[in-house]
Amino acid sequence: MATKKKSAGKKPPAPPVPTLERLHALHPDAHCELDHRNAFQLLCATVLSAQTTDVAVNKATPKLFAKYPDARALAKAEPADVEPLVSTLGFFRMKSKSLVGLARALVEKHGGQVPRSMVELVALPGVGRKTANVVLGVMWNAPDGVVVDTHVQRISQRLKWTKNDDPVKIEQDLCKILPRDKWDIASHILIFHGRRICFARKPNCEGCGINDVCPSAFRAENVGRKPPRLRLATLSDR
Ligand code: SF4
Repeated sequence: MATKKKSAGKKPPAPPVPTLERLHALHPDAHCELDHRNAFQLLCATVLSAQTTDVAVNKATPKLFAKYPDARALAKAEPADVEPLVSTLGFFRMKSKSLVGLARALVEKHGGQVPRSMVELVALPGVGRKTANVVLGVMWNAPDGVVVDTHVQRISQRLKWTKNDDPVKIEQDLCKILPRDKWDIASHILIFHGRRICFARKPNCEGCGINDVCPSAFRAENVGRKPPRLRLATLSDR
């Protein structure tokens, strides 16, 4: 095993496209795990997912969307009306305020519809590049980049697809090595792999289907860092 550890460190980066295809075969159902029925719901769910799990968001959103099914309904609410519906989530007061502000902007500037361009999306309150890319990718398969969350960051580093720690730079690295039509699915595949096999603390390298090409296999525990702690002002940009 010691020999394996020594040689593993000298392995080249995993070949991006073939490795992604193998990962997709391991996770053929990879998809966005935030429950939603339309772009408005996905946008809201993504804003709510900051600093919490998709599972927790999915428990909260049915009541939220039952009461506020679209931007016009939510725009008429006050943040205090929304708070009880999302109170199980961290930073729920701030998130309630963000959702109402977002809904009002959608009504005022876009007729209640979610715009389809990065420029228009990031101009909305509480919406940053990552949130916009989730919506553009999942709803219309037209992302402007790769969504880099903690799983994508960690696995990209373990596969040596990036040497960076900054999510913005990691996104740039991934966009260079992956074809544009893979940008959306790539993030879902890596997130699935991170949630099911390539865990942060104890990655299951033994049971991983790409351990023959992964340069960090069997020595990955200390590879891949958490993203910098998010400032409250940018919390919704996840
Ligand atoms: S589980 Fe291990 S072998 Fe698989 S991608 Fe993660 S670090 Fe590499």
